[in-house]
Amino acid sequence: MPAPKVLMVFPRFNPNSFWSMQAACDAWGAKCPAPPLGMITLAALLPREWNIKLVNRNAEDLKPEDIDWADMVMTGGMLPQQKDTLLLIERCQARGKPVVIGGPDPTSSPDVYGHADFLVLGEAEGIIQEFVDAWDAGERRGRYEAEKFQVDVTKSPIPRFDLLNFKHYLHVGVQFSRGCPFNCEFCDIIELYGRVPRSKTNAQMLAELQTLYDMGYRGHVDFVDDNLIGNKKALKIFLPALRAWQAERGYPFQFSTEASMNLADDAKLLDMMKAANFFAIFVGIESPDTDTLIATQKKQNTRRSLAESVHKIYAAGMFVFAGFIVGFDTEKDSVAAGMIDCIEATSIPVCMIGLLTALPNTQLTRRLHAEKRLLPLLSDHGDQCLAGLNFVTLRARRDILTDYRTVLLAVYEPSAYFLRVRAVGRALRRPKLPLKFNAKMALRDVNRLLRLMWHVTARCPALRRHFWETLASTARHNPRALKSIISLMVVYLHLGAFSKQLVSDLDKQIAAVPDWQPHLMPARLPPLHRSYS
Ligand code: SF4
Repeated sequence: MPAPKVLMVFPRFNPNSFWSMQAACDAWGAKCPAPPLGMITLAALLPREWNIKLVNRNAEDLKPEDIDWADMVMTGGMLPQQKDTLLLIERCQARGKPVVIGGPDPTSSPDVYGHADFLVLGEAEGIIQEFVDAWDAGERRGRYEAEKFQVDVTKSPIPRFDLLNFKHYLHVGVQFSRGCPFNCEFCDIIELYGRVPRSKTNAQMLAELQTLYDMGYRGHVDFVDDNLIGNKKALKIFLPALRAWQAERGYPFQFSTEASMNLADDAKLLDMMKAANFFAIFVGIESPDTDTLIATQKKQNTRRSLAESVHKIYAAGMFVFAGFIVGFDTEKDSVAAGMIDCIEATSIPVCMIGLLTALPNTQLTRRLHAEKRLLPLLSDHGDQCLAGLNFVTLRARRDILTDYRTVLLAVYEPSAYFLRVRAVGRALRRPKLPLKFNAKMALRDVNRLLRLMWHVTARCPALRRHFWETLASTARHNPRALKSIISLMVVYLHLGAFSKQLVSDLDKQIAAVPDWQPHLMPARLPPLHRSYS
């Protein structure tokens, strides 16, 4: 039997979501922030002789001839991609092609994708061979499920970076570990990947970076781990090797990642990350309210001054962007003021403020189900910014939405945002690294800066003064932080417009909230989804 032709299609995210960063991508000449790392890892797991073509719908069109070329179509992704994934299944099946579905959302909610020809669920390394054998044996329908948390990531292959067009992206991703030791009630990561982090070896990780380096890639590499410091022991073995690898090549990469707040408690780890050239960290702060953090099992954020912790990370040369959530059961009426104060005190410019969302297959969803408070999740609304609160709230829904609106307005008002950026510009202690000059990179950076200057000057008169003041202030006080500060300013092109749109959508939602409290009327609740149980 000839080797099959596989079309991998990465479904579209809603372009109107927090993470799309659309205006920032436009200003810097990219199509979308990041490539589909899971899909190119899957591609590396398939037999070498299989022909693979990748279409990322966030960066390019899917043409009918692409589908006609293929013997099978592989697709799937996260919850915000669900709508497009379902359309893709229909579109490809209508052209007579079997569709193979996998990824986090199909694993959490397989019933939604029941009409796909193949469901390949769980971590691909643990199950893909079973699918390949079935395909080779002539099977054209089936469901395969990896045993949970059993995949040995030290056996994961180098992702097929050769399938990517780097020009489409703001950065590329790699992954060091899967899983997180914490137990946040709303989190689906620990349900998908477990609470015992599994890490790759130093040699394996450096081989991935070397592949990117040999392909000519330079610049921003994101460690997509949900909590890079989940296994600190393994990370502390890796970071010195990463620093040495970087130093030998003149620091070709600068890194970002996601980590829990206890990073701030470990000065040695911060130093190691600084030395390896990490420049940005996403941290889930969620709420400034201690009772809420305890109730949602996010105890690692309690017993600390959040502002002090964040400033320790700035002192290690990394800016922080953070997640906040409105809508917890234990939240008080003072939540908006508390959150605004916290964001001001920490000076975090980029805050992903969302509504609490009961994601499929989480402790939160199971609790709300048991309490008969769960409502359907509107996956086509993009992300938690609008699709959240899919449950009967304890506080009045209108109050929660109004508090959310208040926080957004205060935090994304231009002068408030740029004030925080200037504060970060003074606090960041970027390391002095012996960077090797790379003409291509320098040209790209200058080109990006010129594009940003033109964009702000020509298209955003309301931002001009803030932009130039912030640039001048950072150049004067802390020029080594300029590159980071420019990234934070370009991101505002998206966040400023997005938050305005969000506030206007919220106004409609607030106006539409009924006066009756739904939790007083359980008989009106719709039936629960089977996979929630
Ligand atoms: S720290 Fe982050 S990844 Fe870990 S359980 Fe909490 S929300 Fe999930």
